[in-house]
Amino acid sequence: MFENVISFIQLVYKTKNFIPLHEPKFTGNEKKYLDECIDSGFVSSVGKFVDEFEEKIASYTGAKYAISTSSGTSALHISLLLADVGRGNEVITQPLTFVATCNAISYCGAKPIFIDVDRDTMGLSPISLKEFLENNTRVINQQCVNNITGKVIKACIPMHTFGHPCRVDEIKEICDKYHIILIEDAAESLGSFYKNKHTGTFGKMGVVSFNGNKIITSGGGGCIITDDENLAKKAKHLTTTAKVPHKWNYMHDMVGFNYRMPNLNAALLVSQLESLDNFIDKKRKLADTYREFFNGIGCKFVKESSQCISNYWLNTIILNNKQQRDIFLEESNSQGVMTRPIWTLMNKLPMFKGMQCGDLTNSEWLENRVVNIPSSVIL
Ligand SMILES: *Cc1c(COP(=O)(O)O)cnc(C)c1O
Repeated sequence: MFENVISFIQLVYKTKNFIPLHEPKFTGNEKKYLDECIDSGFVSSVGKFVDEFEEKIASYTGAKYAISTSSGTSALHISLLLADVGRGNEVITQPLTFVATCNAISYCGAKPIFIDVDRDTMGLSPISLKEFLENNTRVINQQCVNNITGKVIKACIPMHTFGHPCRVDEIKEICDKYHIILIEDAAESLGSFYKNKHTGTFGKMGVVSFNGNKIITSGGGGCIITDDENLAKKAKHLTTTAKVPHKWNYMHDMVGFNYRMPNLNAALLVSQLESLDNFIDKKRKLADTYREFFNGIGCKFVKESSQCISNYWLNTIILNNKQQRDIFLEESNSQGVMTRPIWTLMNKLPMFKGMQCGDLTNSEWLENRVVNIPSSVIL
């Protein structure tokens, strides 16, 4: 049934062998910098590559500060702690996200509230957010209180799905009005811009991931970006065991975390950053090729929305229904063309069942139809 799609993907990647969904590419200075790092002896949590990476990623995204971390998940955890999210608080997010977003909320002892996404961006819907807040909350002493649970909604984490920016400026306006701190999960959207501003720089803090499957990778790693000097200092402190700088004393002034990015990983990442513009260029060309093909056969291909520049991290098609989706997943994967459905909605996972939800019509619609197709950079 999907023979034409499968053979087109094989044609694009010029192989009938296994085609992964997204594989990393190391074609620049990776080995050189890694050698340099090993030779220096500074392979762990201090070293020049960590500093260099933080400067470069800040400059690339236009954020004033960047703090490297051991993963995107740990960056989310620290951002939430810095937003003062704690036991008994609530945090709004979308049900259509990777589980890490909600895990980080749980690490703080807080609970997620799930609000629907827009169908076109697949990211948090400002209309649904506004409607939920209007109907279910009130602002008391500059805090947003949930009428149903009586708990304070401290933060909101929209996610830029597969690299496509969500309507984050509208979301920010609503969050500001309700005294909710905006943290963007930009784990998938390095190199994606909304209204010419990098994703992750609209909120108080933004989080990027450099896991192996992301657009550039440090093997494992992440970072927090922010314009707030005070938050940046606190983030560095918290992620580095809260050690008070001193020539020799071991003095720690709070319970900190070992969430540092090792210099080895940063060395890899500095090189990957040098390739980022080229990767994005190639990925956008791949998306053009796919878009033309899928338009031609009447299958919906997800395009960047207006005023968005997407990194097209994972290319996405939308099938007519769940049955068709399952047939496509079966046929493509059995022929070595790796495809994947979108995540099971977070409110359906055992640990997040029973959490408060808005109307989730769009999320459920997308859950049954979205498939990611091979998206590795073709050099
Ligand atoms: C990858 C990802 C994360 C987590 O990043 P890790 O570096 O794997 O911990 C968080 N949120 C989203 C949406 C992601 O895709």
